[in-house]
Amino acid sequence: MHTLVAIVGRPNVGKSALFNRMIKRGARAQKTAAITESTPGITRDRNYGQAEWEDKVFSVVDTGGFYAEGLPHESAEIAEQVREQAMLAIDEADVIVHLLDGKEGLTPSDEELSAVLRKSGKRILWVINKIDTPSKEDRIAEFYRIGADEVIPVSAITGYNFDEFMEKLIAALPPEGAAPPVGQEIMELPKVAVVGRPNVGKSTLINTLLGKKRLVVSSIPGTTRDAIDSICTYYGKRYLFIDTAGIRKKAQSYSVEGFSVLRALKSIERSDIAIIVIDAAQGIVEQDQRVAGIVHEYGKSALFLLNKWDLMQDPDRDYKRLTQELRNKIWFMEYVPVLTTSGLEKKRTGKIFPLIDEILAERAKRISTGELNKFLAQVLSSKPFPAYRGKELKFYYMTQVGTAPPTFTVFVNYHAAIKGQHLRFLEKALREQYSFKGTPIRIYVKSR
Ligand code: GDP
Repeated sequence: MHTLVAIVGRPNVGKSALFNRMIKRGARAQKTAAITESTPGITRDRNYGQAEWEDKVFSVVDTGGFYAEGLPHESAEIAEQVREQAMLAIDEADVIVHLLDGKEGLTPSDEELSAVLRKSGKRILWVINKIDTPSKEDRIAEFYRIGADEVIPVSAITGYNFDEFMEKLIAALPPEGAAPPVGQEIMELPKVAVVGRPNVGKSTLINTLLGKKRLVVSSIPGTTRDAIDSICTYYGKRYLFIDTAGIRKKAQSYSVEGFSVLRALKSIERSDIAIIVIDAAQGIVEQDQRVAGIVHEYGKSALFLLNKWDLMQDPDRDYKRLTQELRNKIWFMEYVPVLTTSGLEKKRTGKIFPLIDEILAERAKRISTGELNKFLAQVLSSKPFPAYRGKELKFYYMTQVGTAPPTFTVFVNYHAAIKGQHLRFLEKALREQYSFKGTPIRIYVKSR
């Protein structure tokens, strides 16, 4: 299910603390160590992520994370930011959590925001933070003035009443498996998202790629009302391009950054592969890193386009400079191939479909356990790992437990001894042997 929960509220009510508690990995995930140590620099100020509760998985975004904190509470800038957050949440989220500050009490801007939210008709949970103990629950009474049927006390810091909050949130999510308005067959097509910041040339590229061959389909299950997908046929093979309408910019009054990142997040979630479009004339900027980081962390395959290549003065030198810059700034996606294109002049855009096919084949590739264990023995004989606390570190065997993205489990004697560097070494060796071009891979470690 692709469900998005947005947290809104004025600064300092504790949105990021609640967000962090929501996306903490479940007990199940903690038993194994994933290779993707978080991507430093990208995740430091992250404000989106996946939450797992019981058998539900959904995305959460702290909309406040798109704005600077620390402005005086009732300033004009805050009023504007909070209004934008609300617009973002109303447009993009399935459920909105309006977080309020139980220590400070209700403020006029809280009431304003809640009025805007209420008018939207979206599912809203009013949650009162900084209630650390039952004795403080009497503080929540005044919040009913906001017009809520129910307000939910929590403490994002101590975790007080957090489980009850999550239960209520789960109950408010849209039902799973609501009747799909389009055929199962469409859902099984390769799904391609074209992402990147505004003005890098996404719409132009989509028009070039799809041209008149496109067939518009809307209302793919689990998407917001205005997502428009297109089916396109290339040499007899069909592809689903995700959210080809969302790429069009909305009213300028939006925070363009927040809007485009959220939009990208939702398209990426539904895709198998993301075409990450970069404006070559502008170089690689922070928002490019951010979008790429989402693709990587969501385990989607990817392809980088250095677009608007027609503007390059000295293509050979520029190619060297830009690929270097790309590899430096988006170092965690070294496995992703790069194409230089011009959507406007239709240059080298014909290379995109064959590359998508190649990457999707890598994404679906499965290596037999027998083969993997031959590989593992060979790798370890060439470079045995140092002992752990004086004891030999043993790798018993390795097996591929999943595809899309390719996922491996390796069984060892001391799971705690396995460090990021071991996993990076294994990943590098796996890629040298089996490629997995354009596709992230995951390696889990278990003690036996
Ligand atoms: P989007 O916001 O990413 O969808 O970007 P658009 O496709 O709307 O393009 C933004 C601007 O860049 C427009 O003025 C386009 O004409 C221009 N543009 C798009 N692709 C190219 C390209 O390949 N080369 C050049 N020189 N300009 C382009």
